[in-house]
Amino acid sequence: MDLVIARPEGLYCPPGDFYIDPWRPVERAVITHGHGDHARNGNRHYLTASPGAGILRSRLGADINLQTLDYGQRLDHGGVALSLHPAGHVLGSAQVRLEYRGEVWVASGDYKVEPDGTCAPFEPVRCHTFITESTFGLPIYRWEPQQQIFDQINAWWRENITLGKASVLFCYSFGKAQRILHGLDPSLGPILVHGAVEPLNRVYREAGVALPATLHASEMDKHDPRMRQALILAPPSAAGSSWMRRFGDYSDAFASGWMRLRGTRRRRGVDRGFVLSDHADWPGLLWAIEQTGAQRVMVTHGSVAVLVRYLCERGLDAQAFVTEYGDEDEGAPTEASA
Ligand SMILES: [Zn+2]
Ligand SMILES: [Zn+2]
Repeated sequence: MDLVIARPEGLYCPPGDFYIDPWRPVERAVITHGHGDHARNGNRHYLTASPGAGILRSRLGADINLQTLDYGQRLDHGGVALSLHPAGHVLGSAQVRLEYRGEVWVASGDYKVEPDGTCAPFEPVRCHTFITESTFGLPIYRWEPQQQIFDQINAWWRENITLGKASVLFCYSFGKAQRILHGLDPSLGPILVHGAVEPLNRVYREAGVALPATLHASEMDKHDPRMRQALILAPPSAAGSSWMRRFGDYSDAFASGWMRLRGTRRRRGVDRGFVLSDHADWPGLLWAIEQTGAQRVMVTHGSVAVLVRYLCERGLDAQAFVTEYGDEDEGAPTEASA
């Protein structure tokens, strides 16, 4: 019996009668993490990992009917033993482990395998069937160790200070922004953030994640001499908007896994691209799949066909699962008009 099937509302567990990251409103939703394509409004009951509670409440509303589960803690629902395990993607992100009559399935949600210091690191979970994402499921996607990327970002910031320019870094406001903050060298200058970023910073700090001090962008004027030493974190939607005028002369950059593609960077029209992703790269996906020991692999979103074919050639029973998950990262090349 399949412990998870694809239904029009989302991924469904028949014996447990609940959904995982449903894209249409349902009675019971297990949420792997708070990104918009996985955590949606309108469900009656939510279950998520304890460290993600603040994120879900800040994004879906304080009044949602939310139950939390610590990582590794078991919950029995309709004979299905459910537990959540760190996915290493963003604060509170979890893989969902389901056990029923000796069968074990794990639904990964989104994950990355390099520990980043802002959330619990990815933990491989043995299972018979593994449901994996495949956002960067192509062999060209191989990430450099994140410290090298942070060194590049700090060097770019330092260089802009020498040139008397502010540094504007565009990145997704939940997860990526906090990871970058964690990797910045705050001794270089003040760090300003867009209004979309600060509420998430607050949730991370309340969860005990160490982030450097940040100022709201409106707290500093462009005539303030410190502006020329400042680094500003902003969502990609702020690019080209009048909000940018307050920074005077600046250099801009974009941090995303999609910056691996030169075309994406060119279309973004920014001075620099930093290749930094909260998803597993190609070797990371293959490593994670191997660690589960699963013989059967279902691939949900991203480069599905390529990963399915690769796994089948290696003797695994792999297939595609049609879902409505997208990519939370606004740098994705599918948004050709952006
Ligand atoms: Zn995500
Ligand atoms: Zn996703």
